[in-house]
Amino acid sequence: MKLIIFDLDQTLVDFLPVHEETVRRLFLKEFNIDARLTGIDFSGRSLTDNISELARAYGIDGSLVQGRMGDILGEYERIFSSLMPADPAKYILPGVRQLLQRLTEAGHLIVLYTGDSRAIASEVLSATGLDEYFRFAVYGTEAKTRLDMARLAVSKAAEISGDKFSGKEVVIVGDSVRDIECARQLQSLSIGVTTGVHTAVDLKSRGADYVFKDLTETAKVIQAIESYRGESVPLKTG
Ligand SMILES: [Mg+2]
Repeated sequence: MKLIIFDLDQTLVDFLPVHEETVRRLFLKEFNIDARLTGIDFSGRSLTDNISELARAYGIDGSLVQGRMGDILGEYERIFSSLMPADPAKYILPGVRQLLQRLTEAGHLIVLYTGDSRAIASEVLSATGLDEYFRFAVYGTEAKTRLDMARLAVSKAAEISGDKFSGKEVVIVGDSVRDIECARQLQSLSIGVTTGVHTAVDLKSRGADYVFKDLTETAKVIQAIESYRGESVPLKTG
């Protein structure tokens, strides 16, 4: 059994147009600025980091944002929810549901880590019906960095399963160089997908073990996930 940690945005779903419009409305309302999420290097970072970074990019005083982050995040969640499309299943990326189904049937422990807040991630997961596949999720509001989020996922997995996962028994699947860097620091197996803004060259240059254009080739992705089986330890008898 592997512990498979999936990123959400641009790996499993593409709600980027909804996030972009949310950011635009939020910044107009809060700061009277017509801001663009895609104007910053947003991929693989937490929602709160992106709000701070965007504010900085538009010359807004950082302390003004930090002091009101709770309210600003609440407003983001409210706007995002109001913009949720009527047909959310269409925003699931190709091959995702089939892959999650097959990995579930194979008995792997599947969890989610996302820079989104709990409210946003829960809304996306329940609207798309993907929530049934994940034992738990770790959110961007729970840890400072993506690496801390992954570490939290590994320790929670050990707690709930009683199995300790280490090295390449942990698999991280994501679209950003930050997912790949995080896997490298944990010495986990990394699988990059180019359904986000980072290219195959970007992901490979950070040390991705495998890169796929998307998750449609179910058998090949599963083969990659299961490619490392670890050292076999002889059983002590007698
Ligand atoms: Mg992502």
